[in-house]
Amino acid sequence: MNMAAGKKAKPRVHPKGWDEVAYYRHSKDAYVPLTKGKRDAEGPVKIPTVTVTTRSGDKYEMPMDKKGRVPREYVVARFLSETQGVRPPARSRSVSVDLSRDAEVMHREPRGGWTPKQLLDSGWWQYPSESDIYGIDDTSMASEIEALYRDATKTQQAAGKRMTLIMPRESAQRAVRILRENFTAGELKKAVRGEGMIIQEGNPGRGVGGYYRAKWDTYDSAKTPLIMLGPNWDEDTLVHEFTHHLRHADETRGGLTRTPYRLNERGERMMADGMGDYEFNSARNLEEAATVAETTARTRLPTKSPTGYYEYTRKHGSDYRERYAYDRGLLVGEGRPRKGRSAEKIVKARFGDTSISGLRYYKADPADAYLKARVAAGTMPVAAKRPKAKPKASQGLPPGVTVAPVPVSAKPRAKAKRRG
Ligand SMILES: [Zn+2]
Repeated sequence: MNMAAGKKAKPRVHPKGWDEVAYYRHSKDAYVPLTKGKRDAEGPVKIPTVTVTTRSGDKYEMPMDKKGRVPREYVVARFLSETQGVRPPARSRSVSVDLSRDAEVMHREPRGGWTPKQLLDSGWWQYPSESDIYGIDDTSMASEIEALYRDATKTQQAAGKRMTLIMPRESAQRAVRILRENFTAGELKKAVRGEGMIIQEGNPGRGVGGYYRAKWDTYDSAKTPLIMLGPNWDEDTLVHEFTHHLRHADETRGGLTRTPYRLNERGERMMADGMGDYEFNSARNLEEAATVAETTARTRLPTKSPTGYYEYTRKHGSDYRERYAYDRGLLVGEGRPRKGRSAEKIVKARFGDTSISGLRYYKADPADAYLKARVAAGTMPVAAKRPKAKPKASQGLPPGVTVAPVPVSAKPRAKAKRRG
């Protein structure tokens, strides 16, 4: 929008009027815009954030979309992350306790979503366990989840409470059925450890059926891993993305069935991972190939629409459907589809013979060559002996405890190097 000539320049205001966020002060509070350039869905998507100062003087860096609202997945992520928004001296809060009862103070999401100001005014963002938002952490949400997991085991139900599905009910029913069929209860449990996870039906970007966004070491507002599914997602799509997640989140995996990307001690992808672009792209070939192989071993029936990655292999068939059928025969054959350790085992045993092992989608080493090099160098991930003990969740807060809130915001960070 053009300013009328001759008028005194106003302080810089975002065209959408984001300065209307009540506590956002011009030239005092930082506004960090979305990183320019091609959006890489798998990367640590840095959404715009605004640093908001509350009346009590605490600063929060709040995620904010183009309409000036906090995107729903960030509200959900805030709830699921049991170590965020905790009033000291408690060190964590319990998602399942929060869901099991309605708080005295209930909030309704404003039409169009929350602005950062509204969410901070409500007090919910600071301490999600002290009030509830309808449809996020109230008992109606608990009933929805119970309905989805009606005949499920206790372990599956517990995992379900920490896995938020942002999608219509029929899609959610289908997703839960697929997850229960294709993964063991133990795998579902491992998947939600820590920050929980979000599975969302939406727009993963052109030409992409879905994507997995891991947690990264660079961006503090979105530590909850997210699977985004396109509108035409099927069993193959969801199992593929969920397998990516387990390859990151399950530290008891090692070797070929753990991601070749470097993770820090908190299990986060590292921006400064020491890999040059060529090696990174080779690692991507391996990550995809191993994920496709495991998905092929797990799904109930051979998929009618094999992943596009089979167009980037050569061996075992002249067309991508044939190559998928070859791998399916190798990994499942006349037997039953696999899950749990059995799925990992067959992938480890047969990967070298599959068509997908020769995947070269990114211009770098094909998956099998890169795997060979990493094995020779002795740098493949090593499985942890036991999963790390979960921090004990507090069963609510001691009455009458009033401690000054501790802002959980992160300082705006220097622009991180992006991966293509
Ligand atoms: Zn993938």
